[in-house]
Amino acid sequence: MAKDDTKPAVNSNGVPLFRSDFTKLDVKIDNEIVYEFGGPFGVVGMMIGFPMMMCYFAMSLTLHEGHFFFPSEFTVEGIKEWFATEIIEKGIPAVLPTIKATKIYMGYVLFSFILAYIMPGPLVHGLPIPSLKGKRLPYVCNGLSAWYLTLVVSAVVHVTGIFRLSEIVDNFAPIMSVAIIWGFTMTTAVYICSIINGTQHRMSGNFFYDYFMGAPLNPRIGPVDLKMWAETRVPWPVLFYISVSCLLKQYELTGQISAPQAFMVLAHFLYVNACQKGEECIPTSWDMFYEKDGFMLIFWNMAGVPFTYCYASIYLINYQFAHGTPITHSLPYTIFLFCLLLGGYYVFDTGNSQKNRFRMEQNGSFMTRNAFPQLPWGHIKNPSYIKTEHGNLLLTSGWWGIVRKPHYTADLCMAMSWGLITGFGSFLPYFYVCFFIVVLIHRVSRDMERCAKKYGKDWDRYCERVPYIFIPYVF
Ligand code: NDP
Repeated sequence: MAKDDTKPAVNSNGVPLFRSDFTKLDVKIDNEIVYEFGGPFGVVGMMIGFPMMMCYFAMSLTLHEGHFFFPSEFTVEGIKEWFATEIIEKGIPAVLPTIKATKIYMGYVLFSFILAYIMPGPLVHGLPIPSLKGKRLPYVCNGLSAWYLTLVVSAVVHVTGIFRLSEIVDNFAPIMSVAIIWGFTMTTAVYICSIINGTQHRMSGNFFYDYFMGAPLNPRIGPVDLKMWAETRVPWPVLFYISVSCLLKQYELTGQISAPQAFMVLAHFLYVNACQKGEECIPTSWDMFYEKDGFMLIFWNMAGVPFTYCYASIYLINYQFAHGTPITHSLPYTIFLFCLLLGGYYVFDTGNSQKNRFRMEQNGSFMTRNAFPQLPWGHIKNPSYIKTEHGNLLLTSGWWGIVRKPHYTADLCMAMSWGLITGFGSFLPYFYVCFFIVVLIHRVSRDMERCAKKYGKDWDRYCERVPYIFIPYVF
């Protein structure tokens, strides 16, 4: 019977414990079809609702200073009038895609794909995929070299005037619309190619549900894994450049930059940088191993993440446009928020790193990289863990000995700071943290259910050992 073990995750010769096989249970879980997100009706609602919501929020931000706009009278006539003037006459022209917006967004998408194709980086193998008879797919982790090159190229095009980065915020809503269209286009292309190539997996038989969840597990073009590329190379850099654009716009307008606008650039820099510097941890993640490449991942990465998580930056600059002065706060409040952001980042970075490096040791793919910033306590030597009958080990050291989802709590602290830095003038900068709470609670319940199935009584032992999910002694 498995028991708690405090020995390091290495064998007697100091060689990392290595799992290269998969169990019958892995195959069962991998093939099991369970309707999530409210099934076909729920996903159709999301596929229609999300793009509409994004357009409405973009209109609120760009035309109404971040405030929601409603019909003045909730009668048929009042709603018709509101729709004709606010949506058709003013709103839609503001969010329609343009040639310029297409060039900006698709130019970046193409550029990032080319870098993913050609840049150097270490080769990391993912987990054994049950549907590929246990094959471990190779991933070229060139995110870091691509990211550094992107920073250099963007600085050069901005300084030389080839493309002023401040133009991104001038074209915010049209670029968002291009991203929405691209999200649907890429989802459709990936779906059709998968059906033609016969690579579909875990299909429910309901077209809408399968389109949402995706058909293929690991679509690739050459060495580029489309799922990993879409998850790391597009959403976070685009988000970062939206914030940089707002900062540059502020500087162009006033010759000054405000602490909140700089805060958002720092916040988004930390996030995008973390995704690139820890990219080698992603191939062994749940998204790569289990989730298929459908609307949920593609649309959300291509359009949802960058164009909804950026509301704080857009709100700050639009406030300045409208009022002529930037939003500022007292020194103690500003210092508190910087501490919340940096403290949250520290736990987020080291928490992800502790678990992923622990898992990489078991998987035989452990490596050290000297990417900036290297934070203390990112790798635990001689950790304690619970050995499961399945074969996997569950880490109980470091942040993972305190709560079961330390990286979620930290991520939420950062998300909260993104809203708080704008003050309390609009809900939209808080959209991200509210949405994120819902996403993470859903993700946690989905994950706990899966782990309980996978590890059985070992999971119960783990939950006894680490009883709290987010905050010790609270929840
Ligand atoms: P997690 O990092 O929580 O991974 C969950 C998996 O980790 C489990 O299924 C299990 O996999 C394994 N695991 C769980 N507990 C342990 C343990 N104690 N020891 C070893 N392995 C364990 O998943 P996510 O992908 O959800 O999150 C990764 C990061 O991405 C987080 O920081 C999160 O905040 C962030 N994120 C951000 C989003 C955003 O939009 N900003 C959206 C989603 C995530 P196994 O089956 O292998 O045991």
